[in-house]
Amino acid sequence: MTAQIIDGKTIAAQIRQRTKEAAQTLCRAPRLDVIMVGDNPASAVYVRNKMKACREVGITAVDHKLPASCSEETLLETIRSLNSDPMVDGILVQLPLPEQIKSGPILENIDPSKDVDGFHIYNTGKLVTTGGGFKPCTPAGIIELLKAIGYSLEGKHAVILGRSNIVGKPLSMLMLQENATVTITHSHTPDLKRYTLDADVLVAAIGKAKFVKADMVKEGAVVIDVGTNRDENGKLCGDVDTENVKEKAAWITPVPGGVGPMTIAMLLHNTLVSAQKRQGLAQ
Ligand code: NAP
Repeated sequence: MTAQIIDGKTIAAQIRQRTKEAAQTLCRAPRLDVIMVGDNPASAVYVRNKMKACREVGITAVDHKLPASCSEETLLETIRSLNSDPMVDGILVQLPLPEQIKSGPILENIDPSKDVDGFHIYNTGKLVTTGGGFKPCTPAGIIELLKAIGYSLEGKHAVILGRSNIVGKPLSMLMLQENATVTITHSHTPDLKRYTLDADVLVAAIGKAKFVKADMVKEGAVVIDVGTNRDENGKLCGDVDTENVKEKAAWITPVPGGVGPMTIAMLLHNTLVSAQKRQGLAQ
C-alpha cells in the first residue's frame, strides 16, 4: 500500500479563503495583536508568517516588540492594555519567552475571550469539560485535516506520541470528543510499539527526526506528523520516516505541507470567530 498524502497546504488554503470571505462581512476587520519579547530568530520568522497570513485574509495584524530584557510587569502592562481595547479581537504572545519571564502566569493574564491561541487555563478547562472555548491551533488543525479526508474518529484507536500542553494533551481531548479511544504516550512509555502497532490513527508530536519507523505502524493507519525537525543534511523533516512509513499507511501528512499550514489557518479562524463574537455575530 502507498499512502495517500493529506495535503495540508490545500486544506489550509480553503480555510483561509473561507475566513477571508467571512471577515469581509463584518462591520470592521478582525484584529490580532502579536507580542514578541526578544529577538529569537525562529520566533521572528513565525511572527512574520502569522502577520502576513493575517493580512492576506483581511485580518489587521499589529505587532508589539519588547526587548529581551523586559520585565514581567512590562509585558503584563501590554497585555492589560490590549485586553481592555475593544478594537482588539485576538492576543498572541509568541513563545518561548526569555528566561526571566514564566509563560504560565503571562498566558493566564490574557483575556480568555481574546485567547486565540487557546492556551489560557479557562479555554483549557472548557476543552476538557464542555467544549466551546478557543481550541489550540495545531490540534484543531489536525481534526480539520481528518475531517477534510472524510475520516471519522468514531470508535477508532488514536495513539499520540507526546504529551505537550500545546499538542498532545489538547489533541487527546479533541479526539475524545470525536469518540475515539485515545492513548497518549511519552518518553517514559516502555515498549512504544505495543501501542503504535494498534493505532488506527497515529500522531507523532515528539520533536525527533524520523523517529516513527515503518515497523511501528499498522497497515492502513492514518499517520499525522506534527514534528518540525532538521535531518542529518539540515533538511526540514518530521517525526516520521515518511519514505518508508508511506508504504504501510493509508494516509499520511507530509512535512512540510501537512500540519504546519493548518496551525496558522486555525489561528486565523479563531481570530475571525473572536471578532464575530465581539460583533454579536457568533456565540
Ligand atoms: P515538546 O514540548 O517538545 O515535548 C515533546 C513530547 O514528546 C514530550 O511529551 C516527550 O515526553 C515526548 N517524547 C520525547 N521523546 C519521546 C520518545 N522517545 N517516545 C515517546 N515520547 C517522547 O512537544 P511539542 O511542543 O508538542 O512539539 C513536538 C514537535 O512538534 C516539535 O518538533 C515541534 O517543533 C513540532 N510542532 C509543530 C507544530 C506545527 O505547527 N507543525 C506545532 C507545534 C509543535 P515527556 O513529556 O516525557 O518529556
